[in-house]
Amino acid sequence: MLIPDRTGIVIGYRTWRVIPSRWISPSESLHAQTGHKGWSTTGPTVAACPPRVQADPGKPLLVRSACGTSPEFGCSCGLYAGYEPSAEAQPLPYVAGSVLAWGRVVHHERRSFFRAEKALPVAFVRPRIGGGMFPEEAEAKILRVAEELGAAMVEGPEELREYTEREAMGW
Ligand SMILES: [Zn+2]
Repeated sequence: MLIPDRTGIVIGYRTWRVIPSRWISPSESLHAQTGHKGWSTTGPTVAACPPRVQADPGKPLLVRSACGTSPEFGCSCGLYAGYEPSAEAQPLPYVAGSVLAWGRVVHHERRSFFRAEKALPVAFVRPRIGGGMFPEEAEAKILRVAEELGAAMVEGPEELREYTEREAMGW
């Protein structure tokens, strides 16, 4: 694992989706909020730009090449995070948390999010039971995921911010 220098660290806040099934290992259970992109639980997640098929009627199918280095400016790939923690509690199987991000970082100031090349989850907000189809399983799973990552469980957005800023200073 490449340890980034501290000045290159960006703090971000985002929401993941936890896969509750006990038949799926914790290392495969932390996903992006939408879609099926899995996050690593053994270290930083590295952005990858998926090749896209452009279907233009009357022309041959075009597979557009992926970014040379994800994320590029004109693309939508990368690991997304916002600059501020969400004040709203996330219902399971969604879980809010924070990341330290580095590498290539594309900032979208006006929309207040960024896309990063590498990101490591550092803390999750303890979910409230309720919502989702298997809330107990989802909660047990996020505790396992946090344990694998060495990430903290915090009680709310303010504690999330304080904990993450403290962690970032230690890098
Ligand atoms: Zn891309």
